[in-house]
Amino acid sequence: MIIVSNIVKKYGNKIALDNASLEVKKGEFVSLIGPNGAGKTTLIRILLTLMKPDKGEVQILGENPFRNKRIFKEIGYVQEIPNYPPFLTGRQVLELSAKIRGVDKSEVKRVLEFVEMENYANNPIIKYSKGMVQRIAIAESLLGNPSILIMDEPNMGIDPIFSLKTRELLNKLKRKDNVSILMTSHELEDVKKLSDRIFMIYKGKIVFTGTVEDMVKKF
Ligand code: ADP
Ligand code: ADP
Repeated sequence: MIIVSNIVKKYGNKIALDNASLEVKKGEFVSLIGPNGAGKTTLIRILLTLMKPDKGEVQILGENPFRNKRIFKEIGYVQEIPNYPPFLTGRQVLELSAKIRGVDKSEVKRVLEFVEMENYANNPIIKYSKGMVQRIAIAESLLGNPSILIMDEPNMGIDPIFSLKTRELLNKLKRKDNVSILMTSHELEDVKKLSDRIFMIYKGKIVFTGTVEDMVKKF
């Protein structure tokens, strides 16, 4: 579903990705972990075609996403707690997003149900907890039923009880075998419970690839 081959990316002289390669297979839940500054965000921005690599190749669903913009429709992206307009309701946010993406309006109901936010959908965002905003963000990424989900720190800055809810949702997503998921996380508990495989990145290099069991054995 995703193949990243030997990507190099520099900011001036600073190397952010140093010959990084990874692969996400169909239905797989993969986590990308590593300390701050390791290159996680840079890799995600390249996958979202927001930035071109200096060297190397990206393939998504067998295509080069920089050449075939249609591929972008197959990717749902969840960012770390988005800044939605505070006075719009959750439903309005999703309706707007569906419109922009050219996704049928009926999708809004489906994704609200998936994240269990139907009962709060008519409240303004300003009344939501961070966890609820995050659930709307996850709902947004699911509009149009993309086959790939990219999630940047989906559990960051959320209080434990809501974090539990997010984790439950991530588990529910993992069980959908037609969706491949790439998540970045600092939260080792999530990573251990959810990941089929883990990629560890350090100073722009992928320094470890394997299952959770492999990781526990090694470190
Ligand atoms: P992570 O997401 O793992 O924290 P990043 O991809 O944000 O890592 O950053 C990788 C490296 O590239 C870091 O050393 C960071 O300081 C540097 N970097 C990221 N963005 C820029 C930028 N726009 N200009 C210069 N350096 C950057
Ligand atoms: P994260 O750890 O979530 O990647 P960062 O705080 O590292 O977040 O980066 C936030 C933003 O700042 C990113 O858009 C990144 O590209 C940019 N950035 C990071 N490091 C630098 C840097 N040294 N110079 C310029 N921009 C940077």
